[in-house]
Amino acid sequence: MEINYWNKAVETMDREQLQMHQLKHLQDTVDSAMKTSFYKKRLGKVGITSGRDIKSLDDFKKLPFTSKDDLRECYPNALLAVSKDEAVRIHTSSGTTGVPTVIYHTQEDLDHWTELVCRGIVSSGCTRNDVFQNMMTYGMFTGGLGLHYGAERVGMTVIPIGGGNTMRQLKLMKDFNTTVIHITPSYCLHVHEKLAEAGVARESLSLKKAFCGGEPHTENIRKKIEEIWGIDVYNCYGMSEMNGPGVGFECLCKTGLHIWEDNYILEIVDPQSGREMEDGEQGEVVLTTLLRKATPLIRYRSRDLAHVIPGRCECGRTHRRMSRIMGRCDDMLIINGVNIYPSQIEEVIMKMPEVGNNYQILVEKNGTLDKLTIKVEIYSKIFTGEISAIEALKHKIVENLKANIIINPVVELHEPGSLPAFEGKAKRVVDNRTSI
Ligand code: ADP
Ligand code: ZN
Repeated sequence: MEINYWNKAVETMDREQLQMHQLKHLQDTVDSAMKTSFYKKRLGKVGITSGRDIKSLDDFKKLPFTSKDDLRECYPNALLAVSKDEAVRIHTSSGTTGVPTVIYHTQEDLDHWTELVCRGIVSSGCTRNDVFQNMMTYGMFTGGLGLHYGAERVGMTVIPIGGGNTMRQLKLMKDFNTTVIHITPSYCLHVHEKLAEAGVARESLSLKKAFCGGEPHTENIRKKIEEIWGIDVYNCYGMSEMNGPGVGFECLCKTGLHIWEDNYILEIVDPQSGREMEDGEQGEVVLTTLLRKATPLIRYRSRDLAHVIPGRCECGRTHRRMSRIMGRCDDMLIINGVNIYPSQIEEVIMKMPEVGNNYQILVEKNGTLDKLTIKVEIYSKIFTGEISAIEALKHKIVENLKANIIINPVVELHEPGSLPAFEGKAKRVVDNRTSI
């Protein structure tokens, strides 16, 4: 395995040096944050008046958290820490869970973001010889523009098509010999289904790699994509509040996301108590920006659930690795009193070779009880279509779910391509319990 770095000195920085860097930039971040009315008040309440009040990384852990609701209340400008003329771009979150949050960037902020994306792209083995098709939506959503500038700076040939329009995606992929794509995992599975319709043979494509991100996905979804496409899939994580994609990226070792700790302080906390978790223990991802001037964020509660992977990565990078996101705190379903995350269901069903590319989770009220239905597409190549085989497969899925996560849902089987497909972030859970 040949390891390449974009910025070897920083990527392999000694941990002690990295922590000194963090403390210095944390002090600067607090100073910048104090320029906003929000943080002046919030930090003032705990006696902080300037960055010099933070003498150690332990002091830092006494600072209050910033929540998504705080950001929503600050809409649109209350978190802007520079004068408006210094801000060169605005992004917002997708608004998956409510009012979108706003982040301003200076040119320097954008340059830092680009640098992180370059590190991630190179760590996955890509070079200037690659042709990169960016299949994430461009616009206020950070998925498109986020990777774009890094890909150009690495020197890849960029096809900025954005999301959707699958037939055109496949045509461009073929005509320009695309080698790498950036895409949501759900869309990646869908595009594969459309190869035949587009009249494109897999062998006529040069595709070798995909950066998958934008939504939680399990290891079994990664394996499925790698298998059907015959490519390497690297996880790419981020959120608009922390710039966007590129906050964490998997290297060639595929053993977790390197979080760029010269740009962010990473913490994992108990979502209820806020207590710090040990390495390996799952909790909520909390991030602090260290280099962002326009919208500094301190101890931002992302609502994403993950854990720190203990130990060093074989690639030589010293920045800690985080597991893939298990889901968002808000994704948790309570079905007849049992707590369950959609990713637990995905992990079980996507392990089964008879299961196809898509599924949907439907929750309804049945009298006073909750009724859980899991709609699953079957994998056409394996499946014969005999009634007895259909019943046997349904039974097998139910048994696997019962054994692994103690739920007993109704399972419905569907033809390949018949469940709703997604060109951006997938919405696989339909919870009709609260609607009238
Ligand atoms: P929204 O929170 O409205 O969807 P964003 O567009 O900023 O806003 O999306 C960021 C969120 O998307 C993350 O907080 C996370 O939940 C999810 N996400 C992004 N990349 C990944 C990834 N690689 N794995 C899992 N989840 C991801
Ligand atoms: Zn690594």
